[in-house]
Amino acid sequence: MPYIPRSPMLMSCAHCGREFSATNLNRRYCCNSCNVLASYARNGRPGEQAAKLVEAKKQLAAAAAAKTSAKKLAEARKQVAAAIAARRLERGAGR
Ligand SMILES: [Zn+2]
Repeated sequence: MPYIPRSPMLMSCAHCGREFSATNLNRRYCCNSCNVLASYARNGRPGEQAAKLVEAKKQLAAAAAAKTSAKKLAEARKQVAAAIAARRLERGAGR
C-alpha cells in the first residue's frame, strides 16, 4: 500500500490558543513549550509538591511541640498525608 501523507489540519493550541497546522491529529499544543507549560499548570512545577511536603511536616512538628488540641494535630497530620500523596503523584508523572 503506498504511503499517502495526510494533509495538514489547522488546529488551535490547547494552551495558548494559537492556530497551528499538524498532520498528527493527536497533537494538542502548538509547540513543546506550550506542552510543558500546560503540564506545569496541571501538576505544578517540579519540586513544588516537595516544598509543600516540607512545609506541612514543619507545621505538624510545630503543632506537636506546642501541644495543641488533638483536632489541630489531626488537621496537621491530614495536611502531611495530602502532601505525601501529591508528591507521589508528581513523582509518578515525573518526566
Ligand atoms: Zn501554544
